[in-house]
Amino acid sequence: MNAAQISPAAAKAVRDVVDYELLFDCVHCGLCLEACPTYVLTRREMDSPRGRIYLMKALAEGRSELEADVVRHLDLCLGCRGCETACPSGVHYGRLVEQARAYVAANYPRGLVERARRWAISALFPYPQRLRRLLWPVKLLESAGLRPLAEQALPGKLGGWLALLPPLAAREHNQVAVPWPTARPNASGPAVVVHHGCVAQILTDAENQNTGRLLEAAGYRVVPMARTECCGALDLHLGNVERARRFARVNVRELKRAGVEAIVSAGSGCSVAIAEYRELLSEDPELKSDAQSISAKVRDLSTLLLDSRLTFPKFPCTVTYHDACHLRHGLGVRDEPRKLLGSIPGLRLVELQEADLCCGSAGSYNLTELEMAADLARRKADNIIVTGADYVVLSNPGCELQIAAELRRRGAKTKVIHLANFLARAMRG
Ligand code: SF4
Ligand code: SF4
Repeated sequence: MNAAQISPAAAKAVRDVVDYELLFDCVHCGLCLEACPTYVLTRREMDSPRGRIYLMKALAEGRSELEADVVRHLDLCLGCRGCETACPSGVHYGRLVEQARAYVAANYPRGLVERARRWAISALFPYPQRLRRLLWPVKLLESAGLRPLAEQALPGKLGGWLALLPPLAAREHNQVAVPWPTARPNASGPAVVVHHGCVAQILTDAENQNTGRLLEAAGYRVVPMARTECCGALDLHLGNVERARRFARVNVRELKRAGVEAIVSAGSGCSVAIAEYRELLSEDPELKSDAQSISAKVRDLSTLLLDSRLTFPKFPCTVTYHDACHLRHGLGVRDEPRKLLGSIPGLRLVELQEADLCCGSAGSYNLTELEMAADLARRKADNIIVTGADYVVLSNPGCELQIAAELRRRGAKTKVIHLANFLARAMRG
């Protein structure tokens, strides 16, 4: 269909969801292109931030309709925000792509298989108890030694999903985190809450527990949340803004009730989602000012630990560090985890090539875009392996599972470990 045939009402409907004025911040300089993982891999303009902004503008001006190839280019975006860090014009690309996805979710008829896949992700992952029940058959398969067979035999993308899961028995063993002798709560320390996420409660709970223990060891008072909902990031990736708002409202009320000075998550994607409740709930008459104050309290574990001057015993090993996208590009935290690691006596920190290029995890991206996600995981693993490091440390459970699956597949010696678990290990010496 050419532009003359596209209804002005359709273009207006796009502008009702996508902030049209924000699109004009882009001056088409192209400085973001080499920071964009999908452009780096495909070399296609329409898989770059500039190309996708062009597509959003074409939709909003009625020069293009919402056809399959437009949706494809938008789907292929990881939402990693590498482009935001690179952009000299301050384009709010993350916000734009979330808005465009909300428009796509409401207006584009996806095929049955894709709808089923997206339904399964949104029906399972934000609910820890459902996920726990789903993992039972996987544990049974694993204990019978049949999991590799199932990964090969399952149809469609299900085998790929299964391969991303860590070995569950070993995982459970790792969850038994032994507190080190110096971890004593300080009743008068600054109050901090650790948001435990959703998937993380089941698959990476040691990361949550160790985050709390490290904060206590550093003199903070860790206050539990009475109720924890998914941060909403998964829904925002899938264009389901209304449910993200529902989750955000519960979290804002609970975080306000906790009455803390700082909010921490072991998942940097969750941290950024909470830091952006101020925008998500900006039209909510009851909660908008609470959302602003909650968002302003989000901190990263590394920043709080550096502020406290926590010290570590000697822990000789070689470490490289992967920047989780949302920590680096969403919260702007780059140097603090490196400084913290560098403060451990005996530790040698080796810089990773393309440390801030997305590993392909990106929320639920590695469940919907398996091929691109696998290409990025391979590229990340190549860069990790050449460092020869004993550990690759990172600050997001999604990256942890994604990179671990690829290194496991290759039989690489480097161990993938979350910063909280690594520091807990270092504390124990
Ligand atoms: S968010 Fe990431 S994948 Fe998407 S356009 Fe920006 S850099 Fe590229
Ligand atoms: S998004 Fe920013 S860096 Fe990329 S082309 Fe537009 S202005 Fe340039």
